[in-house]
Amino acid sequence: MSDFEVLRPRSIEEAVAQLATYGEDGRPLAGGTALALLVKQRLVQPTALVSLAEIPELVGVRREADGLHIGAMTRHAAIERLAGEDGVPALLVETYRRVATRRIRNQATVGGGLAHGDPAQDPPAALLALDAIARVVGPAGERTIPLDQFFVDYYETALRPGEILTEVIVPPQPARSAGVYLKFLPRTVDDYATIAVAVRLSLAGRTLADVRVALIAAGSIPMRARAVEQLLEGEVPRHGLLHEAGDLAKSIVDPLDDVRGSADYKREMAAVFVHRAIEAAVERARAEA
Ligand SMILES: Cc1cc2nc3c(=O)[nH]c(=O)nc-3n(C[C@H](O)[C@H](O)[C@H](O)COP(=O)(O)OP(=O)(O)OC[C@H]3O[C@@H](n4cnc5c(N)ncnc54)[C@H](O)[C@@H]3O)c2cc1C
Repeated sequence: MSDFEVLRPRSIEEAVAQLATYGEDGRPLAGGTALALLVKQRLVQPTALVSLAEIPELVGVRREADGLHIGAMTRHAAIERLAGEDGVPALLVETYRRVATRRIRNQATVGGGLAHGDPAQDPPAALLALDAIARVVGPAGERTIPLDQFFVDYYETALRPGEILTEVIVPPQPARSAGVYLKFLPRTVDDYATIAVAVRLSLAGRTLADVRVALIAAGSIPMRARAVEQLLEGEVPRHGLLHEAGDLAKSIVDPLDDVRGSADYKREMAAVFVHRAIEAAVERARAEA
């Protein structure tokens, strides 16, 4: 490992200023679960790591009129502990619970998980399905980025140089809506997904509304399957339609061959898991009604 300095700012402004000083040689440090490996493998060689651990406003979850505000330094395990609380979508909790092992969930942060931009990470699937928004602060000030515009390419996000992701906002969900996260793990329970799907939908009478379908490990970025959403919106769920939705998902995804399966296998599994996830979400939405 090459030498680097660890800086410990006490405010977001101080962290932004430190990152600006170091330019490309500085990196925010959150839980370190991904960054430590990147540094050890010399894939990145920063001279300064700007730790976000001592900035109190980056930690915790607040309920506001526009939704749930989750600080970037909130650990995955803290999201699991929100289970059953008012205004907390079950889909959110269920997805964070499926990340790796308890050890990783105790360390990895919500912001680090998004900024890393790995298309196989679980949380982006749920956050896309829940219409989440990222708030970032940088040298040019503050801006928000809808999550469906946040992921750009493999390990590349819309964050500009020197910007820090400060929080993720999960808006209030439509009435009578329900969500499901299905992660296909043929190897071990703590593995990254071979393919995974998050679905959020509501029932307007017997018809589907507010449909979101998001996949991870399905291409270069965590993706929304918009064509599938459009196919389902306003329709009465029936077996043929869900089958069609699965087939459509298969034609949209663009996975890679890797140790978790061939690209062809993953496409087939995308069809199966999209079908199953929609079916399960419909059942849950009916139970909510
Ligand atoms: C063995 C193992 C298995 C794993 N399995 C899974 C899994 O199955 N599913 C899953 O979803 N995840 C899994 N993870 C976790 C995931 O891959 C990342 O390691 C984790 O989400 C990164 O979070 P972190 O807080 O540790 O970020 P860090 O490692 O600290 O940072 C990651 C990157 O984001 C940048 N960054 C961090 N915070 C910010 C911020 N607030 N603003 C701007 N940039 C920032 C850093 O500079 C760095 O480039 C696994 C990790 C390990 C080590």
